Amino acid sequence: MGSSYPYVDELRRAAEELYPQMVNFLVDLIRIRSYTGEEAEAVERTLTELRHIGCEKVWMDTAGNALGQIGEGRPLLLYDAHLDTNEISDESSYPFPPLEGQVVGETLYGLGASDCKGGVAAIVYGLAILGHLNLRPPCTVVAMGATLEEEAEGFALRSLVERDGLRPDAVLIAEASDLTLRIGHRGRCEIRITTKGRAAHASVPEQGENAILKMIPVIERVEAMGQNLPSDPLLGQGTQVITQIRSPNTPNSVPEWCEITIDRRLVAGETVEGLFRQYEEALAPLGAKVSLPVQPVRTHTGLRLDDLAFFPGWTIEESHPLVQAGRRTYELLWGRAAPVRIWRFSTDGTYSAGRAGIPTLGFGPQEEQYVHTPEDQVNLRKVKEAALFYALFPFVYAEIFDQKEV
Ligand SMILES: [Zn+2]
Repeated sequence: MGSSYPYVDELRRAAEELYPQMVNFLVDLIRIRSYTGEEAEAVERTLTELRHIGCEKVWMDTAGNALGQIGEGRPLLLYDAHLDTNEISDESSYPFPPLEGQVVGETLYGLGASDCKGGVAAIVYGLAILGHLNLRPPCTVVAMGATLEEEAEGFALRSLVERDGLRPDAVLIAEASDLTLRIGHRGRCEIRITTKGRAAHASVPEQGENAILKMIPVIERVEAMGQNLPSDPLLGQGTQVITQIRSPNTPNSVPEWCEITIDRRLVAGETVEGLFRQYEEALAPLGAKVSLPVQPVRTHTGLRLDDLAFFPGWTIEESHPLVQAGRRTYELLWGRAAPVRIWRFSTDGTYSAGRAGIPTLGFGPQEEQYVHTPEDQVNLRKVKEAALFYALFPFVYAEIFDQKEV
């Protein structure tokens, strides 16, 4: 064990002492409804906690993310977990009222417990452990209670990096991973394909041009393209599904236009331009038009961050120093090799790794099986263990980062 690391026993004792406080914070977060774009109160609560646990700098950026910093200098590590949740569809299907924050034994139930408020508590209390022990990390660590993730993952993080100029050397994403390391996920986008016809009264169809009929060969071509999508050794093959077909809502007219939507799952390295070219080259000769929809987004601070709804996939090499640091931290804490996997769903990593090329690693206490379900819950003991990981990680990473720099 490197002599510069804090003693794991000491970290454990601090985590134990802070446990009731951590649970209170997480219960408070669950009790605040924070749908996407409506995170103001949850952000305020997180800022209060970040101040309380001894962050040296606490602020809200222009996109309304909650941020707390401890330590200074390079490398700059960013811990990201989002505060917004999906929306309740049927309150009666939850075992407890979803905004109550019910604790049963070591389990906390409630909306967003697994996605992603358990992760927010883990990263905030990672810093709290350091504050409690007066331990200064050998680098800068920023914890981020992120906004907008459920509807537009990566948009709020992008704003922090590109608008507010915070440039992390590495990003850790505290989404559900059940205390395993995650080194990538597929990306996603929607593609819209339109054919144009000419409207006429349905009683004289020969005077019109039917856009639905023009779509038939387009659909056949799209289906054929599905056999040939790019693949990745880690993420598997990209996929596409035609999920929607629309035409004007006029049953007694020859349809003037027809539009299909394709849900496309992306592997690492696929770009907007590449994708667009791929569909355009195949479908333009059939008279079809290809477009990517824009995702409308408004932050709780009133900022519009509308952008193409394109969320790249990403992976990080297992040999990368960031992954090595994750493995080493895991071994120091739990005395065994870390399981390393990929995520099935998309996260803010789509921006940090997929778009900005910032080394990114996933690690969170929550379990994927509860994400977006009425059984939404998180194991509080796992949140505490994840906080230990976040407390120790900067020491391990800074050492590996320094070696890499030399
Ligand atoms: Zn999430």
